[in-house]
Amino acid sequence: MTEPGLIAERLTAVRRAIARAAADAGRGPDEITLIAVSKAQPASAIREAYGLGQRDFGENYVQELEGKAESLRDLPELRWHMIGHLQRNKVRQVLHEVSVVHSVDSPELARELGKRAAGLRLPTERRFDPNQDRVEVLVEVRIAGEAQKSGVAPESLSEVLSSVEAEPDLELAGLMCVPPFSEDPASARPYFERLRELRDKNGGRARLRQLSMGMSLDFDHAIAAGATLVRVGTAIFGPRLARRQ
Ligand SMILES: *Cc1c(COP(=O)(O)O)cnc(C)c1O
Repeated sequence: MTEPGLIAERLTAVRRAIARAAADAGRGPDEITLIAVSKAQPASAIREAYGLGQRDFGENYVQELEGKAESLRDLPELRWHMIGHLQRNKVRQVLHEVSVVHSVDSPELARELGKRAAGLRLPTERRFDPNQDRVEVLVEVRIAGEAQKSGVAPESLSEVLSSVEAEPDLELAGLMCVPPFSEDPASARPYFERLRELRDKNGGRARLRQLSMGMSLDFDHAIAAGATLVRVGTAIFGPRLARRQ
């Protein structure tokens, strides 16, 4: 268990740092949505953050997400973001819960999401945000080249974007990236700039409203480069528990 009050303190600090980074970049704090990444954290920690006004939560693994969603069903405004790699055979499960998928990286995955989302039109089958009629989709870009496992190569981005737009039950919302890990937060900056350039080359804000980039150590750099969704875990919840296998 995290010590009472600690999540409140950390969440306040993260919110302040986001506001400061936005101001430094000449942007309004409302342009940035904080996603609290709760992987390997207990449902009780999510409930505590929700009590402090946090509404958007990110998870990486479908099974873990389902379990937590089940025990947090009573929190009506909670929005789940799937930020981890998504396998096609888990699409149906994940669609029962999530409002936003950040990790679409192939036309095949886009088609599968579109097909399954169409099958979930009945409100009773869709437990997520009833005001949202389409699943929001971000396309993950392999921003650092071959060294990265997930994401679409920049050369193939345009094809994946079109395949999302071809699905009536998906809403193309933007781009996402995870730069390679480094101890030096500033080293992520060129990758964030690169994602913004790709957005600008592929229709700009009118087509790709969201840029999902920046984590605990580097979200200020991401905001300077134009992030609209930052995914922050340990800076809010503290160290993660070991993942159960
Ligand atoms: C775990 C994770 C995060 C959060 O990482 P922290 O360093 O804990 O802030 C953000 N994005 C993705 C894709 C992740 O897997």
